[in-house]
Order: sequence, then C-alpha cells, then structure tokens
Amino acid sequence: MHLHAMTALDHNATCAPDPEAEPGAVGCDFCGIAAEGGETHEVLRTDTVIGFFPLFPAAIGHTLLIPRAHVPDIWSLEPALAGALAEASVAVAHAIRSALRPDGLSVVQSNGRSASQTVMHLHVHLVPRWEDDALPRIWPTRSAWPEHRLAAAGAAIRSRLD
Ligand SMILES: [Zn+2]
Repeated sequence: MHLHAMTALDHNATCAPDPEAEPGAVGCDFCGIAAEGGETHEVLRTDTVIGFFPLFPAAIGHTLLIPRAHVPDIWSLEPALAGALAEASVAVAHAIRSALRPDGLSVVQSNGRSASQTVMHLHVHLVPRWEDDALPRIWPTRSAWPEHRLAAAGAAIRSRLD
C-alpha cells in the first residue's frame, strides 16, 4: 500500500526533459523545469526553490517543491538549501490551506528507487487531503519490530548524531 501510493505520486511528477538546461544534470526533468520556467501551473519561484503542479496531480492542489539547483536526494542537500526548502514548504502549505480548505495535508519526500523516487532530483510533495479522497492509507496499523531491534536501531542512530 505504501509503495503503491508513493509510486503513483512520483510517476506523476515527470515531464519533458530539456537536455540543454543550465544549470543542472543533463536529461533531468526537473532541471529542465528549473531552467525554462513558465510551468503551466507554477505557483512559486524564488532564487532557490520552485513550486508547481505535477503532470498528473493526486489531488487538486497537489504541489511539488524542488530546489532550482540539481540535488538528487536528501543526503546531498546542504543545510542552507534545506532551510529554504522547508520555509517554502510551510509557505505553500499555508497557501494551499487558505486557497482550497482541505481537511489535511500530506508531505511526502522520497529518496532512492526503493522509496519509489522516480525523478532523481529532490522534490517535496504537498498533497491536500480530504476525508473522502482517493489516496490509499500509507502507514501500517501495527509495528512488526521486536523491542530489542528497535533499541539497537535507536542506539545506532543516536551514536551517529553525536
Ligand atoms: Zn535536476
């Protein structure tokens, strides 16, 4: 269920590539959008971030936010740009709520093919949600992990944040 939901969202994000786009990665769809501008449903453009509707939105108002520079995933994201992206996400979330009055909002950001990232240029989905919308449930209803596995994972992650 989880993967299907993410795949549907990310598959909808593609558009025609622009091999002459500058700056950015050759053949990257989102670098093409960043360079060209004029997306039909662009809602935001700052010095560092662009917001626009995907080709096949999962909901009315479904918006993608991308850094204008080519950043493949969260592990390549510099702190300053992360801050700009987070600030833009909050601003667009407010705008979506004000404009469309959804019941809720999902923020989806996938990294790597196993997470169903299909456009290898970092993007954040803001998906307005309604109680009766068509999007599938994302989270499992119960955990399958024993306590000792959780404790070991927590300790390993904490040690890398020291
Ligand atoms: Zn790119």
